[in-house]
Amino acid sequence: MPRQAVEKIVFGDYVVTMDEARPIISDGAVAIDQGRIVAIGCFRDVREQFKSKFEYSGTDTVVSPGLINGHTHAAMTLLRGYSDDIPLMEWLNEHINPIEAAVVSEEFVRVGTQLACWEMIRGGTTTFVDMYFFHHVAATVVDEIGIRALISASIVDQHRNDAVDIDDQWRQANEFIQEWSSRSQHTTVRPILGGHSIYTLNQEQLIRLRELAVQYELPVHVHLAESQFETNYSLTTYGNTPIDFLESIDFFDQHVIAAHVIWSTAQEIDILAQRNVGVIHNPTSNTKIASGIAPIAKYLDAGVTVGLGTDGAATNNDLDMWEEMRLAAYLQKVTSMDPTVLPAKVVLEMATSKGAEAIGLGSEIGTLREGMRADVIQVDIKNAHQLPMYDVESHLVYATHASDVKRAFVDGECLYDDGDYLTFDPKSVRRQVVQVSNTIRNCQKNLR
Ligand SMILES: [Zn+2]
Repeated sequence: MPRQAVEKIVFGDYVVTMDEARPIISDGAVAIDQGRIVAIGCFRDVREQFKSKFEYSGTDTVVSPGLINGHTHAAMTLLRGYSDDIPLMEWLNEHINPIEAAVVSEEFVRVGTQLACWEMIRGGTTTFVDMYFFHHVAATVVDEIGIRALISASIVDQHRNDAVDIDDQWRQANEFIQEWSSRSQHTTVRPILGGHSIYTLNQEQLIRLRELAVQYELPVHVHLAESQFETNYSLTTYGNTPIDFLESIDFFDQHVIAAHVIWSTAQEIDILAQRNVGVIHNPTSNTKIASGIAPIAKYLDAGVTVGLGTDGAATNNDLDMWEEMRLAAYLQKVTSMDPTVLPAKVVLEMATSKGAEAIGLGSEIGTLREGMRADVIQVDIKNAHQLPMYDVESHLVYATHASDVKRAFVDGECLYDDGDYLTFDPKSVRRQVVQVSNTIRNCQKNLR
């Protein structure tokens, strides 16, 4: 029988599928056509059935689903290292909000999002969930570069944007969702709704946000139960802790992507599980600004869906999902004094298959299986820090660095090919970052 021609075949010494039916395939191959996986199996079987002009050798590599960064503020890469070692609310109110008010513009978001996409693609992240200002600009950058992203149409941050007309914000959110939903067949951008938090939006705005999400059948992306400040604010303002409060206004009627979720009661953990809230754990950001350690092991025991995120580069200070995986595992082990908690496989799920579920895309990405979208990475395993190898999942979680990623594909398109970026020019991005950072530096002097 003649072999069927497909667009690409990606080989690997190991293919880590994250599919329960067939978790790891030795000497495997993934055949890709029209943006989707058409076959996956051992390389001989795939070779017998398929041929392609673009075959990517798998020698000394592991193939896995691309990583999913479930919570970030991409353009904040331009504020990487701008103000470190400061408590969250002081950091927000006295450092980040003033500089953002001074420098954030369409140009800032364009350049910052390009920089973030560059860093994420290089490190094997193929999908991210974003929340920031000028979301239409971020969406355009993502569309051009071809990485996958859920871009939040973020509604008013009342304490931070006094000058911004609230009705205008709702109108812009509606327009953004309608425009990008209509393009869904031709873009890697998915519009979703976003609200910063229960302490920057009031109850009426939160209800309106939920109603809009129900109307469009889209997820809502929020920061939730991040700090003790937030718990106190919630108790004082709403007479309830944050998750209980949101449940009381039926906020979880539509899928919610909740970043952080550090401070929760036992009853609230049940709500998270029952309402299928997608919790995004951001261990580096949470530890760096000492917000606390989310009880992830308890969430998993209760059946909560948990993904991983980096948060913005201003609190991380990079967008490296490999580091997040390691830190997530270490924190749960040491806080429970139990090294069996959060084993490598579970952490890898949080960065791939479970992460996809947490952001509402579990049927499309996060697992390598026939019919899924071809968001695939190839990781080198020949470097000193990876030798020898006994267990591939352990290797990916505990020994791999972002710089080990060799190729990254989104919807079957190769975005990064062993040193080359195929959809943008990193030199040009670097030049623009230098220009914008000079402006930021000048503004910083004036603010002090
Ligand atoms: Zn955040």
